Amino acid sequence: MGRNGGKKVVLTASVAEMAGWDADPFMAFAGGFPGRLFPPFLLQRMYKPDKPNADYSAPFAPYGLRKIEASLLENGFDEDDVMTVHPRYLKHVMGPNTKVVGISSMDPLGMAYVSLTYTSLTGLGDVSATGVEFWRLSQHPALKEYKVPRILGGAGSWQLKNPMLRKEYGINCIVMGESEHDAPELFNKAIRGEKLPPIVQAKRPTDEEIPAIRNGAIYGAVEISRGCGRGCQFCSPTMKYRRNFPIKKILQEVRANLQSGANMILLNTDDVFLYGSKERFLPNREAVVGVYKAVVNEPGVDVVQTAHASLAPAILDPQMVSEITETIGDKCRYHYRGNPVVTVEVGVETGSPRLMQEHMRGKALPYDVSQWPEIVCEAYGILNDANWVPLCTLVTGLPKETEEDVLLTLDLIHRMRRFKTFFVPLFFVSLEDCALRKEKTLNLRRLTDLQWEMFIECWDHNLLHWRDTWLGEIKNFWLNRQFIKLIGGFLYIAYYKHKHGGRSKQMLNRIAGILGKDYRFLLPFQHPFGGELPESLKQRHQTRLSLLPVIPGSEDVPRELHYVNHEPHYRLRY
Ligand code: SF4
Repeated sequence: MGRNGGKKVVLTASVAEMAGWDADPFMAFAGGFPGRLFPPFLLQRMYKPDKPNADYSAPFAPYGLRKIEASLLENGFDEDDVMTVHPRYLKHVMGPNTKVVGISSMDPLGMAYVSLTYTSLTGLGDVSATGVEFWRLSQHPALKEYKVPRILGGAGSWQLKNPMLRKEYGINCIVMGESEHDAPELFNKAIRGEKLPPIVQAKRPTDEEIPAIRNGAIYGAVEISRGCGRGCQFCSPTMKYRRNFPIKKILQEVRANLQSGANMILLNTDDVFLYGSKERFLPNREAVVGVYKAVVNEPGVDVVQTAHASLAPAILDPQMVSEITETIGDKCRYHYRGNPVVTVEVGVETGSPRLMQEHMRGKALPYDVSQWPEIVCEAYGILNDANWVPLCTLVTGLPKETEEDVLLTLDLIHRMRRFKTFFVPLFFVSLEDCALRKEKTLNLRRLTDLQWEMFIECWDHNLLHWRDTWLGEIKNFWLNRQFIKLIGGFLYIAYYKHKHGGRSKQMLNRIAGILGKDYRFLLPFQHPFGGELPESLKQRHQTRLSLLPVIPGSEDVPRELHYVNHEPHYRLRY
């Protein structure tokens, strides 16, 4: 039991969402993989909590939870009454005085994009690690002992809209949307013992109602802008009102992180290139470079990482991209083949302009979306030349997607062979808080040969470009490189052969093939295609490629690393 009968308001999240992932935001994708994929000893390592402060409070917590903590403190709650804590220490801070528990989750049931895609593809179970850990949190002995109301917020709260599920997980109230305006009143209600509404669609907060966080957030996250405004129908950030936060507030959050012991800052934004944009979708170089300068020059900041960016502004202002690179200097979080690189997540989603027109016509603005593949290649040339290596999401299974659309995506992946990027192919998921919420989510059973091919091509690209970086890093671990290759490779292929049959065997064979000579021993076991495409697909794909206009330098690039300096190949107009 907590000192003096426990804290009145306790804020927490599952161990998967409270984990720091060695300050590697992209590693957090592992939370979307099946809970059963990782042995318990590895999970312990992955979820290892930061050493708590002397009063058991968490030095770092999910950004959203910190925002709620700050909202409560700004609205009359006493610092002594509110505490954010890792689940491992709940028993030390809860007690008879505890009146309400606030929980934050991005993905409580494992229904988000990465979870649904990779739990299906690996076939190891239907629940992602995030889902498993959220369930564990709901069964936490301290929460069961002190039966206080539980309020769930965060990007995944919609997953518990169903009353039966809420009951099972012991959630009394879910808050959907930006909760800074509603949170203080809801928590006050819970403290007064009043009945909470089961579902709250939060009212949009004003800029003044959004406080700066007061304590450290995981990855040293600070919010520089919120919302996107491009209107992609499968996406939830677009439902948020677009706003930029002033440098003063950003630096306040940077300092809160540094005081908690962070040396890395993650710029949280749905599109960094449009920070401070004055005209619709046109970048404001001074503002964007200004925000980087302010953060990089803050004493104590050793690493700067950015969350998201869009592609079109890079074409409009390549100088802005280079100036950001110069500003960041060697304060990069990631390395490629031993050299520091700037990374960011970008959404390419599809190579089909028709599908873009259908669901994401704002994504290319101010350009016309009919030029999408050209926009992607042009922007990638600029980004790679300025030492940026983006992580790129692709989505298949969007409503009304045809085989032709998937072929166009395959074409685009081929054109992008020369670029440094990391592909994350995903199934379309009809999120409750997006415009396509009533559409059907793609699943493994409905995956066509071409969609499989898309996954294969993406991972083929990733391994080709990144294997040296990864294997080089593995060398430094206690895990022996040869051991991983031998045992991992055998088990993986044996498992897949059993689980998914021909198409997945083909995928694994091709992946084994491109992994290089160390993996060739895996090939004779199966695969009729010699690590190549099945003939039928190859013909269709070649036909499609031959119909496309030839773009200088974009011929199917041989499978060797091949980079070009950016030259404007297109006359993109807007
Ligand atoms: S550009 Fe990205 S963040 Fe913006 S609406 Fe589209 S998918 Fe969402």
